[in-house]
Amino acid sequence: MIKVLFASSEIYPFAKTGGLADVSDAFPFALKNRVDISRITPLYSFMQKKSLKPYESFVLVVGETDYEIEIFTQTDNGLVTYFVEAPFLSTTPHLYGDATGDYPNNDLRFGLFCRAIVELSLRLGIEVLHLNDWHTALSALFIKEFNLNIKTIFTIHNLAYHGVFTYSTLSNLSIDSKHYNFEGLEFYDRVNFLKAGITYSDLITTVSPSYAQEILTPEFGCGLDAHLRHHQKKLSGILNGINYNTFNPQSGLDFPYDNNTLENKHKNKVAFIKQSTLKDPRIPLFVMVSRLVQQKGLDLLLESLEEFLQKRVNLFILGEGNAEICEKLQTVAQKHENFEFLQGYDESLSHKIYAVADFLLMPSRFEPCGLNQFIAMHYGTIPIVHAVGGLKDSVHEQTKECGKGIVFENQTKEDFLLAIQRALEFKKESKKFKATIEFNMECDFSFTHGSLEYLKLYESLV
Ligand code: ADP
Repeated sequence: MIKVLFASSEIYPFAKTGGLADVSDAFPFALKNRVDISRITPLYSFMQKKSLKPYESFVLVVGETDYEIEIFTQTDNGLVTYFVEAPFLSTTPHLYGDATGDYPNNDLRFGLFCRAIVELSLRLGIEVLHLNDWHTALSALFIKEFNLNIKTIFTIHNLAYHGVFTYSTLSNLSIDSKHYNFEGLEFYDRVNFLKAGITYSDLITTVSPSYAQEILTPEFGCGLDAHLRHHQKKLSGILNGINYNTFNPQSGLDFPYDNNTLENKHKNKVAFIKQSTLKDPRIPLFVMVSRLVQQKGLDLLLESLEEFLQKRVNLFILGEGNAEICEKLQTVAQKHENFEFLQGYDESLSHKIYAVADFLLMPSRFEPCGLNQFIAMHYGTIPIVHAVGGLKDSVHEQTKECGKGIVFENQTKEDFLLAIQRALEFKKESKKFKATIEFNMECDFSFTHGSLEYLKLYESLV
């Protein structure tokens, strides 16, 4: 079996800020019987070190400094995860930054992580190193630089996040300045980690076929579209999936259910509405569980909110992110008894919200893949999505394909409110609505299919 190491800066349930953690949970488990796969991730300060086993330690000489690296392991259902404890990387309270912004030494933190990934790959005899997003991207450069016989595949989960630093990063990380050019790491007079993944990896993937096309255009390319077009031959798009053990309507709920016991979904809803500030459980419940940033279409939602709330709807939003957006949502929520906004991050509550809702809102401006729509459909909740990126590939209104929902073409208030209207009318057709929920719950949104596509890519490399 091919020996693969899957490197990610976040893995659920150890650390999570978004979908990357979910994929790092779902994907390796889906593949583990077909390849010899293990995972590597940082040991953050908030993790339970006591539950991990010391594995080995080594010194990395980077810049002028010797850095002590400790590796710990944990095995879950036959899947081994390696945790990297390194100076700076493992001492901050959060993953990437706090309310004041990103940690200024993220270049050193994740540069060391990348060197440790390469060192462990060598020690483990890894054949294919699967890198994810900018935090792991420099590993591809180090592998080329040290002339190692390890193939690399780099997955872009969100092109909007680059990891950009000043020129001094190069010497701090012992990176030869010959890489500082348009072909390599240079990006508007700065060092761009994500570019390292694009330039030096053997293959590049992104998380949906549509996003793989979109990022080649100036509109979605985040300044890297020309560079991606240059490397287009290496690029493909594979749709993400979710872990059905993690997201499971049969567990963690007051009234567990499946597609034969949907009356329990309604019982959960009634109980939830009782505990919330919302009033009537008979009114259609729209929800959003999201990072509250522009990407997720919060500007469109805010623009449409007053008109939306005039309709016969309940709205519940769980999320955190941009302070201004949160403040605006809070102000509107205070005026309307059919809208509750809960600011924060709460994993187990999020599962309940997917379970109790009738509709999930995803008006994203851009969406590499999106996982919320899969989670929602698996819990029998109908997604309402803007036709972009992975949402376009996974939610269908007109065709009979798996993944039925409400889809609007243009990211405008008019189209969004028309989609809401269609949703409300659809809900009234109770037989059809129930049949659609049952149909979605029978669809396979797991990583089974996607992982087989990745397997083909691995096989093409070795
Ligand atoms: P992204 O990675 O861009 O944030 P995805 O749709 O890929 O978006 O994944 C989002 C994941 O994060 C989902 O599992 C979603 O339920 C979860 N999530 C987002 N915000 C919150 C929150 N405030 N509380 C709990 N879970 C959240």
